Amino acid sequence: MQAAGGKISRLALSSRQRVPPGRSLTHMIPRTVPTWQADLAAAITDPLELLERLELSADTVGLSPAAARSFATRVPASYVVRMRKGDPGDPLLRQILPASDEMLPVAGYTRDPVGDLASMTRPGVLHKYAGRVLLIATGACAMHCRYCFRRHFAYGKARAARNGWQDALEYLAADTTVHEVILSGGDPLIFPDEKLHALTRSLADLPHLKRLRIHTRLPVALPSRVDEALLAWLTGTRLQTIVVLHANHPNELDVQVGEACSRLSTSRVTLLNQAVLLRGVNDDVDTQARLSERLFDLGVLPYYLHQLDRVQGAAHFAVDDQRALQILEALQGKLPGYLVPRLVRERAGAEYKELVGVRTGDWGLGTGD
Ligand code: SF4
Repeated sequence: MQAAGGKISRLALSSRQRVPPGRSLTHMIPRTVPTWQADLAAAITDPLELLERLELSADTVGLSPAAARSFATRVPASYVVRMRKGDPGDPLLRQILPASDEMLPVAGYTRDPVGDLASMTRPGVLHKYAGRVLLIATGACAMHCRYCFRRHFAYGKARAARNGWQDALEYLAADTTVHEVILSGGDPLIFPDEKLHALTRSLADLPHLKRLRIHTRLPVALPSRVDEALLAWLTGTRLQTIVVLHANHPNELDVQVGEACSRLSTSRVTLLNQAVLLRGVNDDVDTQARLSERLFDLGVLPYYLHQLDRVQGAAHFAVDDQRALQILEALQGKLPGYLVPRLVRERAGAEYKELVGVRTGDWGLGTGD
């Protein structure tokens, strides 16, 4: 999974070109930029505009201006067209709509639910698990998911890309036990291709690094990002590359996303998906089964199903463990084992992700067939 909070204006606009929140940036994009960057800049940032397109009223959906101020709205138009018009409970809309429930304080829900700050060894460099280091590349995302566990993260002070990645590269060079680098954020594929090339050239120069893992929602949120230039970057490094997508619902996986996945799967990358179990979005067996089937049709293996990270403002998305395990058990009865994701939870300070139900012994993970 990835996290958000950055401003798209960092990408292509100088500080003198700032526009008020909610205004489209399309008119400021030079004609030569790739299609995906134009699509990104044209993302919807005004919740009322979003509701108008969906033929919904603010009252019907529980829109909260206070929630919108606390975490800005952002969603690409190509994602909005996958939502059902006139349906206040649309599962894609629920993921990105600032809702009044977010403003209710709930005990146990914090600003840093997975202990990112405690594991930060350099700005934006997170070393939680053996052999792997995660780089918070940027705070920017194509879409802002309301349940994002990094929705409160202070990206301004903690981006590994600052100083030309120097701190991060020095840290990685000094620790030869690290074999895998995870690019996360925000969304690392927000970076232009030339910056990604520069980074991977430096990473590939470190002989102990074997793998590059990219956590991204962009191929789902903005499938135009998967263009020839991106594929050239993905395939142009000696590092084994793993792309971990983030899709939560089969309705997210339309024809354009299918084409993007197909382009990815024909290059030599391993494609996985991680989803978050979200109340009112995907907390039923049929949706999870359809998600797994659709992902596999597109060449993507369902990898993780995360229990919600307890981030402030997201408690209304929580599904209790008992219900989560019921869903998983039912999935095992419907699908082959390779289509059943691992139900996991991240605990701050733990050395690995916990398989839900296993630690307490109340449920055993079968391997299916
Ligand atoms: S895409 Fe969504 S979940 Fe991922 S980092 Fe951005 S806001 Fe968070």
